[in-house]
Amino acid sequence: MFNYNSNNIFAKIIRQEIPVKKVYEDNQVLAFYDIKPEAPIHILVIPKQSYCNYTHFINQATSQEIAYFLQKVAEIANQQCPKGFRLITNNGSDALQTVEHFHMHILGGEKLGALIGI
Ligand code: 5GP
Repeated sequence: MFNYNSNNIFAKIIRQEIPVKKVYEDNQVLAFYDIKPEAPIHILVIPKQSYCNYTHFINQATSQEIAYFLQKVAEIANQQCPKGFRLITNNGSDALQTVEHFHMHILGGEKLGALIGI
């Protein structure tokens, strides 16, 4: 069901074939600044294992991997955006996912606009 393509840009970033401005790295997780920031702080957090999107990650990763990843997202988000942050993950074409390696966006650094006009 999920066909991970290891030529995607985040796979190249993990293999250090493309440079990024790193925020955090360990053997399971990499966090780096988005090349086209949509907020003063815009960080992408990715697992190093090969998952196409959020659904693939939740279906195939172990509970330990999932918990570890979410914990790291929380740590990084709170460190970088102490006054608040927004987490976004785009899953699939309707959500305009452009890179087919699961990633969580962390947005913050200012008072963000409403996500939906409510
Ligand atoms: P998506 O639209 O798939 O949710 O998010 C992909 C994100 O990756 C976009 O916000 C885009 O700006 C970012 N991005 C794409 N290519 C690169 C790159 O080469 N380096 C970095 N740092 N970010 C990238």
